[in-house]
Amino acid sequence: MSEVPPPASAECVIVLGGGIAGISAAATLQAAGHKVIVIDQQAQIGGTHRSRQIGPYTFDAGSIFYEETARIFDLAPALRESCPEVLSIQRRIAPDGSILLYPIEPRDLLRQPVLRLVLAVLDLIVSRICLRQDGTLEKLCTKRLGRRFFDDTGLRHYLTRFHHVPPRQIDEEFFFRRMAIIERFTRTKNLARSALRAVLPRRPQASARQWPMRVRPQQGFDALFGPIARHLSAMGVEFALSESIVSLAREGAFFIVRTDQGTRLASAIISTIPLDRLHRALFSRPSGLESLDMTTLYVSAEWLHPDIGNVLFNFHADGAWKRATIYSRIYPDPAISREFFSVETTLPPGTQHDPQGAFAAFCAHVESLKLARGLKLEGHELLKECYPLLSVGTGKTLDSVLTRIGRTGVITAGRQGSFEYLPTSSGVIAQVAHQISGLAAAAPKPEMAA
Ligand SMILES: Cc1cc2nc3c(=O)[nH]c(=O)nc-3n(C[C@H](O)[C@H](O)[C@H](O)COP(=O)(O)OP(=O)(O)OC[C@H]3O[C@@H](n4cnc5c(N)ncnc54)[C@H](O)[C@@H]3O)c2cc1C
Repeated sequence: MSEVPPPASAECVIVLGGGIAGISAAATLQAAGHKVIVIDQQAQIGGTHRSRQIGPYTFDAGSIFYEETARIFDLAPALRESCPEVLSIQRRIAPDGSILLYPIEPRDLLRQPVLRLVLAVLDLIVSRICLRQDGTLEKLCTKRLGRRFFDDTGLRHYLTRFHHVPPRQIDEEFFFRRMAIIERFTRTKNLARSALRAVLPRRPQASARQWPMRVRPQQGFDALFGPIARHLSAMGVEFALSESIVSLAREGAFFIVRTDQGTRLASAIISTIPLDRLHRALFSRPSGLESLDMTTLYVSAEWLHPDIGNVLFNFHADGAWKRATIYSRIYPDPAISREFFSVETTLPPGTQHDPQGAFAAFCAHVESLKLARGLKLEGHELLKECYPLLSVGTGKTLDSVLTRIGRTGVITAGRQGSFEYLPTSSGVIAQVAHQISGLAAAAPKPEMAA
C-alpha cells in the first residue's frame, strides 16, 4: 500500500462518497472556504446515478427522473437543458393481471362487483375509526385503506416483494419515508375528494395520468456528471476516485483515513457512504443495520405491451421483480428496433445476486401475462445497500448507531449516510445542506483557507 501524501495542512475536509450527497456537500463546503477532498470507490462520481452502455442500448443503475426544479441542476451551469423532458407514464400490474394507473386510482376500484365494493368501503370506514396503529406497516396501511383495498389494489403484494417479509414486520416509517404519493393520496380529505371524482362522469383524458419530468441526458449520466466534476474541480474540489475507505480513526483534532490506496489526514469528515460501512470503518464491527441489495437486469424485447407506459410497477401476486423502467419509450430512437428496459428485484440480506435466475423468473411472469415477447438479457448489475431495511425495531438501533458515530465527530449526511429512504436527489441535497450547515458556517475565511 502506497502512502498518499496528506494535504500540506490537515485543515482539510474529507467527504466520503461521491454520490449526490457527497458532491453537494463538497460544493457547499468548498464555496464556504474549506479545502475539500471527495473519496469514492468508483471510477466516476454520481453514485446510483450511473449509466451502462451495452451495444446500442443505454441503461441505468437506478436513478433517472428529476423534477423541473431539481437541485441537482444547481451543481453546474446548463445542466437542466442537457436533460430532456418526457412524460412520466407510470402503470402497475393489478392483482388480476390488468394494467392500471400507478399508484392507485379510485375509479379502478369501482370496477368491482357492487357487493364487494360496498363491503370494502365499510371495511375502510371501520378501519379508519376503530383500528389502532401499532407502529407496523401492516396496521398503518390497513388503517389508511381498509384490509380489502389493501389487498385488492395489490399494494400488499408490492410491499411484501419489496421487503421479502410481510408488512407486519416492517416499521410504519416506511410509509412516510418511501411512499409519499400513497401517503398523500390516503389522507382522509384527499381520499374523499378522489372518491367523489371517481363517481362523477369521466372527463376525456382523465384516466391518462402523466406528467412531464426531466430525465438524464440521452447519451447517459457521463454527460451530466462530467460537467459537474469539471465545475467542482475548477472550484478547487479534489477527487480521489477508485479509492475505497478501509478504516477511520480520530487522533486528537484530526482524523486518519485509511483507504486501499494509502493514508490521508483531515480536520473534518463528512460521510455519505452507507452507514454500516462507516460503522465498520470506525469500530471494526457491523452496526446491526440491514439493507436490501438490488439486482438490476438490463433487458431488450421484440415486443412490449403498448399499455404499460414507461415505468411499470408489479402489484401482481406473482413475480419477484418490482419495477421496470422502459428506456426505449423515454428515449425513442428510430435506429433501435427493439424495446429496452431495466428490471429491478430487491434481494433480502444474505441472498446472492443471481441475474440468470431473476431473468428466467421475470420472463415466465410477464410472458404468462402476455406483456412481453422475445426477451433477451443484455446485462445486469448488483446495487449493494440499495434500500435501508426498516424492520420493526430498527429505529432504536439506528438512534444508537448515530449517537455512537456522532461521538467520534464524523458528520453523517445524505441518503446512504443517514440510512434514510430519501427517494429524490433534491431531498438528499436539501438534507445534506441541513446536516453540514454547522461546518459550512465554521469555514475559515477564504484568504486563510489557502
Ligand atoms: C433504485 C433507485 C432509484 C432511484 N431513482 C431516483 C430518481 O429517479 N431520481 C432521483 O432524484 N433520485 C432517485 N433515487 C434516489 C437516489 O438514491 C438519490 O437521488 C441519490 O442517488 C442518493 O445519493 P447518495 O449520495 O446518498 O447515495 P449514493 O448515490 O448511493 O452514493 C454513495 C456513494 O458512496 C460510495 N461508497 C460506498 N462505499 C464506499 C467506500 N467504502 N469507499 C468509498 N466510497 C464508497 C459509492 O460508490 C457511491 O458513489 C433512486 C434511488 C434508488 C436506490
